[in-house]
Amino acid sequence: MPRILLLLPTTTYRTEAFIGAAQRLGVDVTIGSEKPNTLTKLNPTALLTLRFDDPAQAARQAAEFSAKHPIDAVVAADSQAVAVGAAISELLGLRHNSVASSAQAENKHRMRRAFEQAGVPSPEYRLCLLDDERRALADRTEYPCVIKPLALSGSQGVIRVDTAEEFIQAVGRLEIILKRADDAPPASGNCGNDGAQSQVGSPESSRQFLVEKFISGPEVALEGMLTRGELRMLALFDKPDPLNGPFFEETIYVTPSLLAAEVQEEITRCAAQAARALGLTEGPIHAELRLAEDGPVVIEVNARSIGGLCSRALRFGTGMSLEELIIRHALEKDFELPNRQSQATGVMMIPTARAGRLIEVRGLDEAKAVSGIEDVAISAHMGQWLVPLPEGSQYLGFIFGQADSPQAVEAALRESHSRLEIVIQPTVGRTREDDCTSPAEWSKKDG
Ligand code: ADP
Ligand code: CA
Repeated sequence: MPRILLLLPTTTYRTEAFIGAAQRLGVDVTIGSEKPNTLTKLNPTALLTLRFDDPAQAARQAAEFSAKHPIDAVVAADSQAVAVGAAISELLGLRHNSVASSAQAENKHRMRRAFEQAGVPSPEYRLCLLDDERRALADRTEYPCVIKPLALSGSQGVIRVDTAEEFIQAVGRLEIILKRADDAPPASGNCGNDGAQSQVGSPESSRQFLVEKFISGPEVALEGMLTRGELRMLALFDKPDPLNGPFFEETIYVTPSLLAAEVQEEITRCAAQAARALGLTEGPIHAELRLAEDGPVVIEVNARSIGGLCSRALRFGTGMSLEELIIRHALEKDFELPNRQSQATGVMMIPTARAGRLIEVRGLDEAKAVSGIEDVAISAHMGQWLVPLPEGSQYLGFIFGQADSPQAVEAALRESHSRLEIVIQPTVGRTREDDCTSPAEWSKKDG
């Protein structure tokens, strides 16, 4: 039986989905994680503790293991494990993205530079330092723009600003976010994110940030698979809620996209060009693009599949999950990718309306009872401290829908969400960075 090394960071949401998939496929699984597990002693071939923060060392550890229990494929469940997965595969001689390409895809500045050099349509950008003179930076910047960290995910720290005043405030806010991210381990996940703070978050990148031109227009997410450099689109999701900022909380993803076939093809070509520019050649990608007036613009391409629990919205062929598809693709050289089932499906990442402690979620049965709703999964636990964007990195949960049309899916998700009553006990002594909603509000509070 073939053996896969499944890289599962302790913070991932995708353990169940990947382990379930491996079990259904009947392959031997070794789980690689960054924390030791007491079960390792009981079944030494089932668990491997790896230095996720040191890919070269992790690769040597995996090679030692593979000498006794040969590994046939390495699958990284999310971005925190992408660099390690590439390093291990390279050492074991397995088909995989190069180490350099995964590193490039994990750092937003390197990604922008690669896109620029390859002529991939992507926002104009400037790399800045927290130590730069902020007033001078603000005065040189064109508005509206977006400021963002280089190595966080899930829109954490991504802020749209429209004026020099807002710029200075937003950079101050980003500085606190970066400092906290440095001090604390990553958590949680959503579709665009997987709860994985990149290992490329070096001390130097925690003082850097990007200022980008704000690209308006509808946004889509493309789930794709690369095979020997060729991209196959697996699903294209529309994001029907406008993402105009100042923060970019993801909510609804619906597939199939309502965009015209030619536009979808253009998007896929653009994502393929972007993956090529990064040097990615094998395995899943998750790409986000905006549709500007003169065509698609790439916001980012990650060398991993969709995050959080969102993959549950996808089924392929005769019922295969995305995780099964990824494992089979990694194991079987000539695996023919099945089509997504044609049913319209979608997922809503339940927004975190405000900061505070989660006390109760009421109306769960009513929310599940909406026609077209498959499930409502609350992933935050009661008592958990919730922080909205841009500081937060956690979603409350996920609503899954399936119906005759994308519009019906969207309506079902909205109806279901409206039946939920999320009881959050507000923060006592609210602080600016914990509990604000717009740049205008921070200035009011500051003033
Ligand atoms: P993350 O890795 O945290 O998801 P992204 O760069 O993907 O960071 O940004 C998160 C979201 O912010 C995007 O999905 C998009 O909606 C918005 N965004 C980011 N950069 C831009 C930009 N230059 N123009 C318009 N929107 C942007
Ligand atoms: Ca993103």
